[in-house]
Amino acid sequence: METLDGLPDDLRVPESIPLTKLLLNKFQREASQLPSTASKSDIDSDIETVIRDVDTYIDTLVNEERLSEANFDYIDTCIQVVERLYEAYQLKVAYMKLTKAAMDDIRQVANEAADFNLNSLKQFQKNPPLGFDLTLNSYYSSIVTEESITKTVNKEPKLQRLRNIRSILENPEDPLPDHDSLDDELAVSGGKVSLKDPLSLQFLENPVRSRKCGHTYENRPILLQLRNGVTHCPISGCHFDLLVSDLVPDSLMKLRVQVFKARQLQKRRLTKLETVM
Ligand SMILES: [Zn+2]
Repeated sequence: METLDGLPDDLRVPESIPLTKLLLNKFQREASQLPSTASKSDIDSDIETVIRDVDTYIDTLVNEERLSEANFDYIDTCIQVVERLYEAYQLKVAYMKLTKAAMDDIRQVANEAADFNLNSLKQFQKNPPLGFDLTLNSYYSSIVTEESITKTVNKEPKLQRLRNIRSILENPEDPLPDHDSLDDELAVSGGKVSLKDPLSLQFLENPVRSRKCGHTYENRPILLQLRNGVTHCPISGCHFDLLVSDLVPDSLMKLRVQVFKARQLQKRRLTKLETVM
């Protein structure tokens, strides 16, 4: 029997085999060719297409006086498509971050690593390197979680707007699902959103919203009041002073009133029909 002089006593290899220097160098080269940021423009144009479709559909409903007959299956599908597109983008961003972090570490390991052989065995046993799979998984789970992606996607203003439109078509007087804290406290009374101008007490037709306090008024009466030098917000309990430049068109409020009126009209038509029959 031959003696095994010169061999280490302990010949167990680490549980994960370290990458060879050659492979590490290859990764390093690949890493240097990766783009450093994910571009949003390609996904954005798809999202714009879906949003334009929904806007056109709503315009058609308005023009044909069919706002009370919105097709929710269609709108839900559009919302889902936009959600998936934003998710895909967030996944791409996460992958880029992940790959970059992994490549940075590989670069460092590649610079410092000894090659794995009998001479370096003891060193590897003492400090077992993480296997590449394991490393990637730990990077991945630290960067990408379903909740983190959903949370980011839910903040997208274009998606919020679509969900708001859907909510208004269903319940024109209900607070928005993505309302901010201002709506929460001020614009809602008795759980319903007021569809009337606080100054003229008429239904809002060309509503403008104060960027300062979030309150909405009919364009002409509020402009008249401001021109007469009365600058405080007309909503009782609101202490904001307004400038003309604080007012922006409130298209969602406009839609609320349109949907509300369309439903009233439909009710009247149905009642009439019942009377005739
Ligand atoms: Zn106000």
